[in-house]
Amino acid sequence: MTALRITDTIAIVGAGTMGAGLAQIAAGAGHRTLLYDTDLRAMERGIEGIGKGLARLIERGKITKVDRDRLLGNIHPVKQIESLAGTHMVIEAVVEDLPTKQSLFKQLESLCGPKTILATNTSSLSVTAIAAALERPENLVGMHFFNPAPVMKLVEVISGLCTDPGLAETVYQTAENWGKHPVHVRSTPGFLVNRVARPFYAEALRMLEEGVTDVVTLDTLMRETGAFRMGPLELTDLIGQDVNYAVTSSIFSAYHNDPRFLPSLLQKELIDSGQLGRKSGRGFYDYG
Ligand code: NAD
Repeated sequence: MTALRITDTIAIVGAGTMGAGLAQIAAGAGHRTLLYDTDLRAMERGIEGIGKGLARLIERGKITKVDRDRLLGNIHPVKQIESLAGTHMVIEAVVEDLPTKQSLFKQLESLCGPKTILATNTSSLSVTAIAAALERPENLVGMHFFNPAPVMKLVEVISGLCTDPGLAETVYQTAENWGKHPVHVRSTPGFLVNRVARPFYAEALRMLEEGVTDVVTLDTLMRETGAFRMGPLELTDLIGQDVNYAVTSSIFSAYHNDPRFLPSLLQKELIDSGQLGRKSGRGFYDYG
């Protein structure tokens, strides 16, 4: 199996934090890239965000205006899911919810042909379980990027029980062609990184709940003494509190309520008040 060709069309479903980044990656690699979101405003915001990110790269001399125009010219927003028929690979980046992803892939499976690769960017849901809703579960693979997707190199290529190994290899090689560092992993709860990372967030949230210290001190400490690029709390703001909480809840349930993965009530309260992090303008920090 070889990587996808540059002439192959890629579709991205979901134009939020991750979907916009994925569209930027695929379009930057030269693919005709279709972007679809049920929320038209989210799609506009996603494309606007890509433009702003590229403007910063121009300012820093990393790319030229010609590069930007070529990349943006490769992104085609579409208003109807039916427009995705005929694409070579669809990467899904919608809400982290099993029934939503299953019904979306069922629809995509009936729209796209048997040769279309169906990839999910899920952070924690079982690729096997998502695929179970399909007639051709062998066509579904996990392609898990990290945030911010255009910057982060690692990509987990996740095989469910039925995933065709040749298809997983195509996705692996495609990720390499896109300048990423892919790794093959099996579909287990949280896969590799999100399982390892759970205690990083959980311990910080617990310390806050116990009043050990404050948000800024915790983050600063982890950056300056732990040599992490970001502290755990500012990272949850970047990820989105709702997304981070959904991932923890999904791993907690997948491991039969193992208390190591217990979701945080403090984080739940932030979500209930709409403080989702950077995307809503406020989370642990104020982005006003
Ligand atoms: P987000 O909330 O920023 O964006 C999700 C988008 O999906 C929204 O614009 C919404 O309108 C759209 N959407 C919802 N249902 C849809 C449907 N049926 N069809 C089309 N569009 C639909 O979420 P996000 O942070 O981009 O996360 C998306 C996925 O990526 C999740 O599975 C998440 O777990 C995963 N992920 C997130 C991160 C992160 O740091 N945020 C990192 C890696 C993976």
